[in-house]
Amino acid sequence: MTDTLKKIALITGANKGIGFEVARQIGRTGATILLGARNTPAGEKAAAVLASQGLTVRFIAIDVADPDSVAAAAAAITTEFGHLDILVNNAGITDPADGPAPTARLDAVERIWRTNFLGALAVTQAMLPLLRKAASARIVNVSSGLGSLAQNGDPNYSSAATKLIGYSASKVALNMLTVQLAYLLRDTAIKVNSADPGYTATDLNGHRGPQTIPEGAAEAIRLALLPDDSPTGTYSDSKGIVPW
Ligand code: NAP
Repeated sequence: MTDTLKKIALITGANKGIGFEVARQIGRTGATILLGARNTPAGEKAAAVLASQGLTVRFIAIDVADPDSVAAAAAAITTEFGHLDILVNNAGITDPADGPAPTARLDAVERIWRTNFLGALAVTQAMLPLLRKAASARIVNVSSGLGSLAQNGDPNYSSAATKLIGYSASKVALNMLTVQLAYLLRDTAIKVNSADPGYTATDLNGHRGPQTIPEGAAEAIRLALLPDDSPTGTYSDSKGIVPW
């Protein structure tokens, strides 16, 4: 049995899309997958699919926007496993009432933030004591290229016309979580990095993205499995570093 075989990995929003593929591929390394989902039937079904592929997987009920649900998930993992090696903050939403700053509906912006930023922050806070107990832990925040201030400020950026104030700002805030947490944990064995999946065909965007789900999952998987001599506090896609 190698070290990898003993790793425990929690992926939020893992019942479908990028999160499901991240769970599948981390599971294929021998890690125990805690497949997080807010919808119990969908989560159990997804876990059963991975189990049928020979992976070690457990469904964990976790609605990242519900503090009680997050606390219950942390308590369950504490009781059953006592530590956590990998946390992938993947759960995320868009909202049809989001849009450019002059017209985006504030209730939509708030909904997005509750999941994409506050949700990831709440899960990270709840799981940190478990991550600190791991020999070498990884936190991956699934961000977006739309969360890059530098790219948003560049009129030649390929997605310059996509101005979703709620979604994009939630990913900027998520990137701030990466930067600040990486600094605070710099003397520990926990690495914190942001992954930009790239525009990927999933339910999130009506399957309009040109990338496949395995392509979109690749960077988060790489960051979740980083060796110990790797950097922390970075922001990257599958082609390399993304400017903050
Ligand atoms: P997706 O197929 O819509 O999957 C999103 C997942 O998040 C679903 O499992 C969803 O659960 C879950 N989720 C939403 N709200 C949740 C909550 N409150 N608690 C727990 N789970 C919740 O979208 P995706 O494209 O795979 O997105 C995954 C991540 O990649 C997101 O953070 C997204 O922002 C990011 N991303 C995607 C793209 C892209 O082009 N697809 C590009 C850049 C970044 P339900 O099934 O219950 O709704």
